[in-house]
Amino acid sequence: MRRCPYLEQLYRDLAGPLRIYHFDCHVDHRSKRRYALHDSPPICVRDYESCHLYREERRREDDIIYRYTD
Ligand code: SF4
Repeated sequence: MRRCPYLEQLYRDLAGPLRIYHFDCHVDHRSKRRYALHDSPPICVRDYESCHLYREERRREDDIIYRYTD
């Protein structure tokens, strides 16, 4: 499974018909929840490259690497 490198943990609970995805993000240090009636995992295990947090952190790391290799 493709997953964001900044994803700290992901697990799914069931509450009646609801799927509750719990996921922790290393970038903003927040625990998040996503509720869905059908299988619908968060962006972190789908197209995470379009997540603004991922893109900002990736750009920040690339800048650091560029500075050290310049
Ligand atoms: S996809 Fe975004 S929200 Fe999910 S772990 Fe990565 S940076 Fe955080």
